[in-house]
Amino acid sequence: MPRPLAGIDRFPRIRLGHVPTPLDAAPNLGAALGIELWIKRDDCTGLAFGGNKVRQLEFYLGDARARGADTVLITGAVQSNFVRLAAAGARQLGMDIHIQLEERVDDADDLHRASGNVLLDRLLGATLHPFPAGEDEAAADAALERLARSLADEGAKPYVIHLGVDHPPLGGLGYVLAAGEVMEQGRARGFGFDGVVCASGSALTHAGTLVGMRAIGEAMPVHGICVRRDRSLQRRRVARRAAELAAMIDRADIGLDESDVDASDEVHAPGYGKLNDAIREAISMAARLEALLLDPVYTGKAMAGLIAHVRSGRIRAGSRVLFLHTGGLPAIFAYGARLEHWLSSEDG
Ligand SMILES: *Cc1c(COP(=O)(O)O)cnc(C)c1O
Repeated sequence: MPRPLAGIDRFPRIRLGHVPTPLDAAPNLGAALGIELWIKRDDCTGLAFGGNKVRQLEFYLGDARARGADTVLITGAVQSNFVRLAAAGARQLGMDIHIQLEERVDDADDLHRASGNVLLDRLLGATLHPFPAGEDEAAADAALERLARSLADEGAKPYVIHLGVDHPPLGGLGYVLAAGEVMEQGRARGFGFDGVVCASGSALTHAGTLVGMRAIGEAMPVHGICVRRDRSLQRRRVARRAAELAAMIDRADIGLDESDVDASDEVHAPGYGKLNDAIREAISMAARLEALLLDPVYTGKAMAGLIAHVRSGRIRAGSRVLFLHTGGLPAIFAYGARLEHWLSSEDG
């Protein structure tokens, strides 16, 4: 019988992460919410503080190396985890790294611009390029392409990791594989899951997980929590990326469409990278009940979405839920002043 994910084998991949990452029980937080909660610890992938982009970069950098590249270019928000991990992966492969940083968060302070991921980008020796118009993916990619051409003129062999949806979602393949990995870990303990919750940004983690689950015959909902745009735009994006991924691995037969894409934005306002009360509550509950650290941009918001789903009944009491911890922890320090402000108002 052919393996359900055999189509992935044709994509070049390099190993960057420590996998399988742990699957941890979260009994205290689960009890407080009235569910059985499990955490897939993709904050523990290793590589320069780790996170979900490590699995994605195994395919981008595999492609880069297969094409003979010696210089990687990537664009992202100032506190992007993706660019930090691209820098780390490029360094391990002996490649140069250029990072374009987009100003997406308008209440950013000096810590935001210098600490957390930015500090790590600089420690890794990345060349940083500012990009003021942060909300336009096509423009950010076009600027990156211009930079790649000028580096090529100087003799470099550049490889661009694009932000927009006009390029193949190679990184999603990492989560197609991760879905199989976590189901295997559940099986070893004798169970499956009633649902999965993850942050949904570029959509590659969400779409990859969804395709990976359906490809191995798992039908549970994959609840994406919007961290970047509203749910109607995000559903369309996830559906498109999922269809592309299914086709790439020769599994167009799983027939995903938008009706199978679950994305919600109840906890998204006021927007990308901004704190709200639901995020603060989620960060606080996870830390104090479980010593589980969440970041303010992605995993704090994803956990806030999980809590909202439990309270609204969309996730039923008593169900066994898998929360995908996608990392992002360096941003805690970049948001230090804003988090401290909240903690001291709590004390007062
Ligand atoms: C990028 C990122 C996400 C979102 O993943 P996508 O694949 O872009 O949707 C979630 N969590 C963290 C920590 C991230 O860095």
